[in-house]
Amino acid sequence: MLPKDLEPIMLGLGHPKYRASQVLEWIYSKMAGSYEQMTNLPAELKETLAKAAPIKPPNVMDVKRAKDGTTKLLIGFPDGANAETVLMEHDYGLSLCVSSQAGCKMGCAFCASAMSGYSRDLTSGEMCWQFIEASRIAKDRRISSVVIMGMGEPLMNYDAVLQFIRVLNWGKGFNIGARRITLSTCGIVPGIERLAGEDLQITLSISLHAPDDATRDRIMPVNKLYNVSEVVGAGKRYADRTGRRVTYEYVMIKGVNDSLSQAAALVKLLKGSLSHVNLIPLNPVPESGLTRSTDATVAAFKKVLEDAGLAVTSRREMGSDIEGACGQLRLKKRRSF
Ligand code: SF4
Repeated sequence: MLPKDLEPIMLGLGHPKYRASQVLEWIYSKMAGSYEQMTNLPAELKETLAKAAPIKPPNVMDVKRAKDGTTKLLIGFPDGANAETVLMEHDYGLSLCVSSQAGCKMGCAFCASAMSGYSRDLTSGEMCWQFIEASRIAKDRRISSVVIMGMGEPLMNYDAVLQFIRVLNWGKGFNIGARRITLSTCGIVPGIERLAGEDLQITLSISLHAPDDATRDRIMPVNKLYNVSEVVGAGKRYADRTGRRVTYEYVMIKGVNDSLSQAAALVKLLKGSLSHVNLIPLNPVPESGLTRSTDATVAAFKKVLEDAGLAVTSRREMGSDIEGACGQLRLKKRRSF
């Protein structure tokens, strides 16, 4: 909730509106685990809230720490659904990768979340819990950026994700600036169009992973719904409307999408647009049968893009020793049950 959502409830309980902001500040910023801790609230209000809306933290089912500082949490909710969230250390601070669904329906061939099945959409509150539980792990270090890039397709859970973004951005709560929030989609075109109209300064990241339909069909079933030219067209309109550079994610898979002719096709697709290409080493999931491109192949692919004037980075791999790819921890838990 945001203060505007809780204020009518406070008024209904006979308390002033500003109590809404106080309660939410305690929960988001001070991470209070109970109303009892909220020392600036009247005792009667604390009792009423404890009965009507008890604070129920989720169950942190597993925590794995990698050598590079990446920490992965598996968070279980009361109905048995669970989701992963990953805390990453960068030179610019801590960032958190948040899941928007328990599992995913989109079926990308390289992804562990697709393999562990879809349970349900997460609520905005459950996304907030991921932030709170990760903040507890981070202790006194502040999470300064959030990527909605974990399990699930955020634009298939649009309203809850938008509410979560607005809560993240609320200054007295988590206080994450819009420019430090990234939403990653596999290319749900109507969702991208809708997001462009929200007047948000967040970064849009599109998982493209192939420059042509034949290749993308092979690794991303969503391409049958929204093909390469439709997805890139939506990305360009988003950039035009918001003035924000769109990131195109490209996971490098050996012998599938890493040839120099595919690099040239990617140049043709994106040249002249407000864009940035991020080459990602595949974090292999054994079940997929896919392997990562060699460093030399990635370097050659990158050079073609750079020589053509595209902005390109290759993302460093994080947490591979703790099943860092999204959905791997959850998949492992499922196998062991
Ligand atoms: S890569 Fe993203 S959209 Fe594709 S199956 Fe995995 S979680 Fe879903």
